[in-house]
Amino acid sequence: MKTLRLILAAVTAATVSVGAFAADQEKAAAPAQWKPHDMNRPRPPVRDPGPPSDKEFAPPPADAIVLFNGKDWSQWERKPEAKDKDKSPEPKWKAENGYGEIVPFSGSIFTKEKFGDCQIHIEWATPAEVKGSGQGRGNSGVYLPGHQEVQVLDSYQNDTYADGQAAAVYGMYPPLVNVCRKPGEWQSYDITLIQPRYDAQKKLIKNCTLTVIHNGVLVQDHVDLGGGATEGNLLLQDHHNPGHYRNIWIRRLKSE
Ligand code: MG
Repeated sequence: MKTLRLILAAVTAATVSVGAFAADQEKAAAPAQWKPHDMNRPRPPVRDPGPPSDKEFAPPPADAIVLFNGKDWSQWERKPEAKDKDKSPEPKWKAENGYGEIVPFSGSIFTKEKFGDCQIHIEWATPAEVKGSGQGRGNSGVYLPGHQEVQVLDSYQNDTYADGQAAAVYGMYPPLVNVCRKPGEWQSYDITLIQPRYDAQKKLIKNCTLTVIHNGVLVQDHVDLGGGATEGNLLLQDHHNPGHYRNIWIRRLKSE
């Protein structure tokens, strides 16, 4: 009963507020054998993903919703930081030269639309000029609609806890391998998110699952994200580090 109450609370919280993107769910769902951010947890093996591309890796297919084409952030709203007196909804991130650029401390940004089951394509690059270390080097993140963060970080020769490196489900699952490219090089995530299912009595009958391909390599294989929301906004994190994004699109999936 306690579990059910927790699930219902999580569903309610995640549905009503963009502020509920994930922090509480991380704690609830961390695998038991490792503490979140356990420095003793083994790091995934490093693998070379092959060369990067100056051109976009995967242009949007015909049935995709284009969320960012390098020209403007019109499909997005800003999530002002708590201390920020300016609560205006327009993102302050730059969009020029075919890509977007995080403006640190201007706030994370999230899609105006909400999504349930979906396939997401995102390209990103951490700064070519290396500054900081660990979680402070090129940190951003892709918060899945209604669920946890898939970490964006410069994980090229930059050690941090395994469940916090690039392509980790933050605080839960390290990637299967580390295929992070060098700082400044374009990288891609291809994400499949299947939302949890509930019966008519709101009982959880199927957990949320996630698959992530990083630079063409499988890094999260149908991992279990538990219950929680059945839809939400896609959010890109302002972790106060600079970074770039381009070619972001999403496909709604119609699964049973
Ligand atoms: Mg992050």
